[in-house]
Amino acid sequence: MITKALQDRLAERHHQSRYRMRRVLETAQGPRVAVDGREYLLFCSNDYLGLANHPKLITAMQEAAQQYGVGGGASHLVCGHSSLHHQLELRLAEITGRDRALLFSTGYMANLGAITALISKGDHIIEDRLNHASLLDAALLSGAKFQRFHHNDLDDLERRLQKLPPTGNRLLVVDAVFSMDGDIAPLDELAVLAKKYDAYLMADDAHGFGVLGGAGAGSAEVFNLDQQQLPVLMGTLGKGIGSYGAFIAGDELLIESLIQFARPYIYTTAMPPAVAAASLASLELLSAESWRRDHLQALIQQFKRGAQDLGLPLMPSNTAIQPLLVGDEALAMTISANLDMEGVLVSAIRPPTVAIGQSRLRITLTAAHSADDIATLLAALDKTVPVELRIAAQYK
Ligand code: PMP
Repeated sequence: MITKALQDRLAERHHQSRYRMRRVLETAQGPRVAVDGREYLLFCSNDYLGLANHPKLITAMQEAAQQYGVGGGASHLVCGHSSLHHQLELRLAEITGRDRALLFSTGYMANLGAITALISKGDHIIEDRLNHASLLDAALLSGAKFQRFHHNDLDDLERRLQKLPPTGNRLLVVDAVFSMDGDIAPLDELAVLAKKYDAYLMADDAHGFGVLGGAGAGSAEVFNLDQQQLPVLMGTLGKGIGSYGAFIAGDELLIESLIQFARPYIYTTAMPPAVAAASLASLELLSAESWRRDHLQALIQQFKRGAQDLGLPLMPSNTAIQPLLVGDEALAMTISANLDMEGVLVSAIRPPTVAIGQSRLRITLTAAHSADDIATLLAALDKTVPVELRIAAQYK
């Protein structure tokens, strides 16, 4: 019986202390949110630039809803593709320096769509071990031979590339910024290896697009990689951009192939045009309010300095994702609950999202935070992270 099996699986989750719970936010995304009528400082949002409730995005969405209504109405290929979607794709292509961009309703679907359209049985896909779940799921769904290399380990990757048989196409896929670790893939060196071994390179820049690079064009801008070097660039619009949705950018051949073959593109309703309007407004702010990236960088440095002074076990990251490695699942949950009591919301990330023994507090900073907010966070961590986790000597 399925119901009995489900009950058993849920009970096991409880027993392992891995049961996932949701919080109900009673206010907009932002540095301060209300839960159960109490105000908290929020350090677990991916709204890295603090744009999710920016007045210009709200106005753009309201005006587009007046003009275009609320629903997308149909899939892009049936009759759901509006001029706002079209404009957004043109703008994304321009910002990323690619021939074209194609909108997807979510990043998860963009990854599923791209990978399953590009490879199939008889092909090979190699991914970083710490890639996002959607990239791993896509590889399994593709039917191609799937292997994973050690995180950011180019020697391990090259050994695997050398051993691939000559038959079948090769796709190499990485997170540009790793979602649970915050570190960055060496995209320049990956591009060299991809070329050497005739593999098509795809990077998921969900956490970099909008946030990294002088113009906010993300990891491809940081490494200065064009569409020959990095042919499949995926970005999301629901994190740094503060809106919703995702895109794949690349050359004509790639985008036309995705339109024809990417099932999560073809068989789903287009995102609401008003959401596309909000993304368009946000893209304008990437240059008009570039101070957001500078401010975020300053906060990241402030946090890292403060955490090092306190001997907190930070993971090596220079991005807005600043995980604090706890190890034990129950301890990560306890610290997160104690932070709650201090009025600070930080998510504990546990297996199966991360490996056993790698549980952590995933702290994310945003441009909507102030230096005082960071000081409050550090004080709360000082109160709640037990001494046995401190590694002061290494940081001094
Ligand atoms: N890729 C990465 C690296 C992510 O972290 C996420 C979201 N957590 C996604 C893809 C999926 O993006 P979306 O939320 O737009 O589905």
